[in-house]
Amino acid sequence: MKLLEGKTALITGAGRGIGKGIALKFAEQGANLALTCTSLRDEVMKFENELNQMGIKAKFYAFDASDFEASQKYVAEIATEFGRIDILVNNAGITRDAALKRLTEEQWDDIMRVNLKSVFCMSKAVQPVMWKQAAGSIINMSSVVGVRGNANQCNYAASKAGIIGFTKSAAQELGARNIRCNAIAPGFIMTEMTDVLPDAVKDEWMKKIPMRRGGTPEDVANVAAFLGSDLSAYVTGQVINVCGGMLT
Ligand code: NAD
Repeated sequence: MKLLEGKTALITGAGRGIGKGIALKFAEQGANLALTCTSLRDEVMKFENELNQMGIKAKFYAFDASDFEASQKYVAEIATEFGRIDILVNNAGITRDAALKRLTEEQWDDIMRVNLKSVFCMSKAVQPVMWKQAAGSIINMSSVVGVRGNANQCNYAASKAGIIGFTKSAAQELGARNIRCNAIAPGFIMTEMTDVLPDAVKDEWMKKIPMRRGGTPEDVANVAAFLGSDLSAYVTGQVINVCGGMLT
């Protein structure tokens, strides 16, 4: 029996990186997939095809996860098309790194909108569907940076810490209806987001990791599969660090 057989998952920002890794893992485990991206580019359509060949149903939707109206509209469309939404993975996120003395209002607002407001918009849109089902698992992508802070990332760290506050509050509010809400705090994961960092910054990160390697999208996807599945039926309001031991 596959872990996610019969479940439908909605994953934001699934066109590449960690979101793509989660989509692949969930497909292997039998979930049907509604996936979001910012545009239906060739690479995304190719990935959608690959997923559909794995014996599950997968469909990409292009919209901004932090747009309130769009998230309401597309989630309603997804619920009709797939019949149910068992798992929501709020994965979409961006960085706009700068030292506080140079950090602009625009960089602050962009991060808060994409990283934090998207969690509100998508969870708010999905919540009535899960409420009716009296079942659901919401998984929010935070970061070790949201737990312990990081120089030159005041905006990003604040958004990721905000996600933890949201997660714990939603867990308390929705638990009685069998809707769980947990966060994953990845450490240094090798994706296009971290690929652009200077080598010196990557070396600094690497030194802080007891396991002496960067994580892979699959390392994060394995924990997401656990949180999306019934194996974690009594786990809610938690933050699980996936960081090679960086946070202890
Ligand atoms: P990535 O840049 O490779 O992928 C992010 C995805 O989100 C992209 O596909 C992008 O198109 C999408 N996206 C961006 N803005 C969006 C929006 N408004 N609406 C819908 N989709 C949008 O990054 P990644 O490394 O895969 O990171 C995924 C998540 O994990 C992010 O939330 C990130 O903050 C978090 N994270 C990453 C790391 C890491 O080391 N890579 C560490 C901790 C946390």
